[in-house]
Amino acid sequence: MEYHDSEKAKEVATRVEAFMEGEVLPREREALRTGDRISFDELEDYWEMAKDRDLFAPQMPEEYGGQGLGFRDMLPSFEQVGRSLFGALSIRANAPDEGNMHTLEIGANERIKEEYLRPLVQGEMWSAFSMTEPMNGGGADPKMLQTTAEKDGDEWVINGHKWWTSQAKIADFLLVMARTDPDAHPYEGASIILVPVDTDGVEIVRNYDHLGGHGIMETEFGHAEITYDDVRVPVENTIGEENGGFRLAQLRLGGGRLTHCMRYSGMAERALTIAKTYMSEREGFGSPIADKQALRHRIADAETNLHAARTVSRHAARELDRSDARIEVAMAKTFTANVTNEIMDLAVQCCGGNGIAKDLPLAHFYEEVRAFRIFDGPDEVHRRSIAREVFEDTAPEELENVLRFGER
Ligand SMILES: Cc1cc2nc3c(=O)[nH]c(=O)nc-3n(C[C@H](O)[C@H](O)[C@H](O)COP(=O)(O)OP(=O)(O)OC[C@H]3O[C@@H](n4cnc5c(N)ncnc54)[C@H](O)[C@@H]3O)c2cc1C
Repeated sequence: MEYHDSEKAKEVATRVEAFMEGEVLPREREALRTGDRISFDELEDYWEMAKDRDLFAPQMPEEYGGQGLGFRDMLPSFEQVGRSLFGALSIRANAPDEGNMHTLEIGANERIKEEYLRPLVQGEMWSAFSMTEPMNGGGADPKMLQTTAEKDGDEWVINGHKWWTSQAKIADFLLVMARTDPDAHPYEGASIILVPVDTDGVEIVRNYDHLGGHGIMETEFGHAEITYDDVRVPVENTIGEENGGFRLAQLRLGGGRLTHCMRYSGMAERALTIAKTYMSEREGFGSPIADKQALRHRIADAETNLHAARTVSRHAARELDRSDARIEVAMAKTFTANVTNEIMDLAVQCCGGNGIAKDLPLAHFYEEVRAFRIFDGPDEVHRRSIAREVFEDTAPEELENVLRFGER
């Protein structure tokens, strides 16, 4: 399919694809076949290869060791890395570090950029974003945020309880969303504060057992429950403006949702390729399964929907150049999350028992993709925003005759 990406975007994505085909996918297949998982040391070898090929950290400026690509120029590369379970990690374009790098790049002061952003890009540090809270706190409705940060001299004192903080257990620092002005509306009274993970009062309580996870990495990245008990950090660890945490999070999430869309689209594309190959090789009832119309039509619908998802993400990315593109991004995120979930289910079905076995990546993909309908805003929350916007466009006069019919 021709998506009319820029020549630069196509050129980089072609090189990323070659890296995936030549280096990353063979190692993934071996890990799935043998159970020999990928270590951090080995990951560093991939980073060196990615650096040699000018593919490392495409999302970051060159001064921090990235490729300095514009957002739309790097987007198709995210589709390519999404095809592998460790593709994004292999070029240091993995969530949540990728989004955290972006947050620091736009919001951090020079000291924090040197002490945290530079090593984060290089893979010398890992990071986490700590916003979601247990039952009475912020979740799908972030306005319910409970964690507080109070000023004491030139320090913040943070108290709160978080969960679902991805990769906190391996992180060197946490970006914590806390209420810094309890009298203001939460969207005007919360800040993002950088907290080194070894600060007194930070307790990583546990990682959850959960659906999905990188089954081919040696290290468990996981998602953690954390308590913050009188945690003191300098006020200058505030990222972005004081009380501007949600505005900064929105900037992070706009692009971040689209990079997720592209990674999951790539994953769905690979799942369909595997399914079509299996169906062409495997026979049943006297002919290849690929000839059975019951599945052929479903594959045709899946390809159509995936094409639409790729198109709608690119459209939202174009709109992001002009505005915050809130609705376009919400549409792209919800549509892509649902389409890719349906495709993983179909791909598993088409491969029969082999779809369930973890010799193929399909079962991992199936587990991975489910969370995409929940994190970065659940489907219903995006639909709520979209519905609010589209209902504003109604024109009552169009229905004047119908509505007043009974009154005549
Ligand atoms: C794999 C994964 C990684 C994550 N990583 C992070 C991370 O790194 N940092 C972080 O802070 N958080 C993270 N999260 C948390 C994620 O952001 C939240 O799970 C999400 O925002 C939903 O919040 P909640 O779980 O509290 O759901 P709840 O707020 O309890 O909502 C439950 C469900 O209710 C429904 N719902 C909610 N509002 C409405 C509505 N208005 N109308 C209709 N239905 C509605 C939705 O279906 C929603 O899924 C992660 C979650 C997952 C699964």
